[in-house]
Amino acid sequence: MTQRLASLSLDLDNKWSYLKTHGDPGWESYPSYLDVVVPRVLDFLAARDLKITFFVVGQDAALDRNRAALRSIAEAGHEIGNHSFAHEPWLHLYAPDEIARELSRAEDAIESATGFRPRGFRGPGYSFSPPLLEELARRGYDYDASTFPTFLGPIARLYYFLTARLTPDQRAERKRLFGKFAEGFRPLRPYVWRNLKRPLLEIPVTTMPLLKIPIHVSYLLYLAQFSPRLASAYFHAALALCRLNHVEPSILLHPLDFLGADDDPDLSFFPAMNLQSADKLSVVAAAVDALTKRHRVLTMSEHAAAAAAVLNPPPSKGGVRGGTPNRDVSNEVRSVAVVESSPL
Ligand SMILES: [Zn+2]
Repeated sequence: MTQRLASLSLDLDNKWSYLKTHGDPGWESYPSYLDVVVPRVLDFLAARDLKITFFVVGQDAALDRNRAALRSIAEAGHEIGNHSFAHEPWLHLYAPDEIARELSRAEDAIESATGFRPRGFRGPGYSFSPPLLEELARRGYDYDASTFPTFLGPIARLYYFLTARLTPDQRAERKRLFGKFAEGFRPLRPYVWRNLKRPLLEIPVTTMPLLKIPIHVSYLLYLAQFSPRLASAYFHAALALCRLNHVEPSILLHPLDFLGADDDPDLSFFPAMNLQSADKLSVVAAAVDALTKRHRVLTMSEHAAAAAAVLNPPPSKGGVRGGTPNRDVSNEVRSVAVVESSPL
């Protein structure tokens, strides 16, 4: 069996960001579960000899009490990416100067906490906009990973508005959350945004080829509430469709994939938080082990370097300067097809 390339990343959303988005009080004191979840995730990855990308929120990095947990991620050899400063999923509504300030504050805080300046970005709630892509390109980022090609965005938004506690102002501010139906037509394979001042590589979050429904681990856990076997069969089908369609999967993890009802009763509004952590970990392990069985699993910056290597000319002359030593992956990615696209 040939080993194809895949990448794995974790959006390090913290407890306060879920409370904030859900409209719950108490988020202003920035409650954190990083001390619990980070060691658990690092142990899980070390047991599998995996190096992945953690997209870190600048606000967390700016608080002294989170620094030890964040530094331990970098010390374990994982790549550190930028997941914005304030983790507002309506980042696509920010003006250009607000975007520049948001990126720079996050970069400074993350570098100060972890020792690494991020070279990759993922928007909170998969939000992005032409000014955001322009600013990432201007700042010399190696890649963006904010696009989430799914037709289910409007359904996710409906679910959100039905379950969150929002004021009318907040509803207006968040009305474009999670994207339009047309997001589902975006490519699954890496591509380059070319009509910016500088080209910028995009690595989409992989969704099910053809159907464009989510396949990331939080969605598998949602299915596992009904049937763990269904979740497993669904993920295997998704990986098979990726192989058939020459998609190198970029799979997404979240902290709540590793936390259960036994860890945090405050987050019971979140899908699959009724499961115990041990049950969730077994679903996560089965998914990650299915991925590693047939793929060489890399960080996002390594995935970006591999995709960039098949472009002519490559989008970033400086190469990839992530939090991990570069491994040569350029000759392993013959099946990565890079297409061009325009912002919006
Ligand atoms: Zn997030």
